Amino acid sequence: MKKYRGIAVSEGYALGPVREWLPNLPEAGTFTHTQSPEKDRPREWARFLQARVGACSHMTELYQQALARVGEHYAGIFKIQLALLQDEELLLRVRRKIMEEGLSAEVAMQAVGEEYGNLFDAMDDEYMRARGADIRDVQRQVLQQLAGDTPLGDGAALPSEEDWPAPYLLAADDILPSQTLALDPGQVLGLILRQGSQMSHAAILARSLGIPAVTGVRDFPRGGGFFAILNGFSGELLRDPGEEEKWEYTRMRQEFEARRQALKTYSGVQTITMDGTPVELMANIGHPDDMTSVRDCGADGIGLFRSEYLFMYCEQMPSEEEQAAAYGAVLQQMQGKKVIIRLLDVGADKQIPYVKMDREENPVMGRRGIRFCLEHRDILMTQLRALLRAAPLGQLGILIPMVVSVEEVRTVRRLLRQAACTLEEEGIAHSTQYEIGVMIETPASVMMGDELAQEVDFFSIGTNDLTQFVMAADRGNPKVGALCSANQEPVRRMLRMAVDSARRAGIWADVCGEAAADPQMTEFLLSIGVRTLSVAPASLLSMRQTIRQQDLTKKSGES
Ligand code: PEP
Ligand code: MG
Repeated sequence: MKKYRGIAVSEGYALGPVREWLPNLPEAGTFTHTQSPEKDRPREWARFLQARVGACSHMTELYQQALARVGEHYAGIFKIQLALLQDEELLLRVRRKIMEEGLSAEVAMQAVGEEYGNLFDAMDDEYMRARGADIRDVQRQVLQQLAGDTPLGDGAALPSEEDWPAPYLLAADDILPSQTLALDPGQVLGLILRQGSQMSHAAILARSLGIPAVTGVRDFPRGGGFFAILNGFSGELLRDPGEEEKWEYTRMRQEFEARRQALKTYSGVQTITMDGTPVELMANIGHPDDMTSVRDCGADGIGLFRSEYLFMYCEQMPSEEEQAAAYGAVLQQMQGKKVIIRLLDVGADKQIPYVKMDREENPVMGRRGIRFCLEHRDILMTQLRALLRAAPLGQLGILIPMVVSVEEVRTVRRLLRQAACTLEEEGIAHSTQYEIGVMIETPASVMMGDELAQEVDFFSIGTNDLTQFVMAADRGNPKVGALCSANQEPVRRMLRMAVDSARRAGIWADVCGEAAADPQMTEFLLSIGVRTLSVAPASLLSMRQTIRQQDLTKKSGES
């Protein structure tokens, strides 16, 4: 047996034979038609344009398929690809190669696709680097159109069931988003990629399809034909495991499934500790599509709607109307329960493709969150107007990210008043009934907690960022992963300070970072007075179970 380690990107366990897939594009040298004489160049350009139209309609079909299988949010990946295909610079480059250099449409597309792909590959930012796969997907779609009915490369599509009897674990260097979308969870038990990252669209799609996956396993042997175990929680892979490991993982997989089933019994019950203290358990979402899972587990509200995801997976800025509709849909579905919508928190790890952001040496501590919003007033005002337009549909909370000072809150309040005035003047329906809160996720906001609490209605404690700033340990760097845990005394003290500030001012405070879903922190959080937690829908039922096992009378001595 041999062990390998990668990045766990989609949870679950999978055991089975490994099949190696080589979904290759044809090499540059394999095209028979490479050059055209000057007189044929306009015809060649027309061939390319026609292929581009075909690729556009194929990608629109993929978008529709994705819509049905993984919902609008993730289907947006294919919208991004469409935008890449329609990029003017890309078009100009292909045109130059065909009309000026005399290359065939295939070779021109191949070359420009590679140029773009290499450009993305070399970027520092992980999100942008992961877009290299999208440009290669676009390139493949156009080349396939140019090839007509001839299959492209050896293995662009998965071999049939006859050749590869299901089920199996699929291994590849990397696969494209369109290829991931075509995977059937009944056939592919798990996905092993040597390249890829947490942010790659293949990883995102595998997660939404419920296929356990591990990426970045550079040294995983090629060829397949052997048995392996995939651990989608730890990122571990076992090649040729012994009977004991097989038995152990089969048991773990069954337990995981049984746990999933058993947790369902917690969907309709109250979130209350053993001694009768009620706890509000809310859900974190990134898109209205996530509401399906929220409904299934009976959340007490939406504690964190990360609005940036509305902006990330589309080719242009969502309009005021689109945003108002998205926020309104969530407010309406929550039927009067709290919905906390966070203002756009981009910068650092989250980029939006259509807004040019200057490169920063240290973007995590750069112009992100409220700093970005205040520098892009037009974007902020559009969002504030959309929020006020949605406000009549429920109980809205507006949350400001990455706050470090009272002035930032006062500025947002002033802009909200301005937004309300202009909506009033324009006769557009809206409401000014909302709560306003700050993310407590910087040490500065904890230290200024008493002053900030005088300015707002609630605190939402973001333990993910707070931990990385308190411990000076990058949350995206696995090498300091052990340091970047909220369950350590320096972070606990900060949490206690923040909750105390809220209590003194008589405002409510929730915890919405990962610590809220960490059962090892529940006892501590309840002991310092936290009574509202907001967690990913997937963790909500297990957290309800954990809370119902707590007895605060026994633990009162610890606070
Ligand atoms: C946090 O920082 O804890 C948080 C909830 O925000 P995000 O993870 O989106 O940065
Ligand atoms: Mg944060």
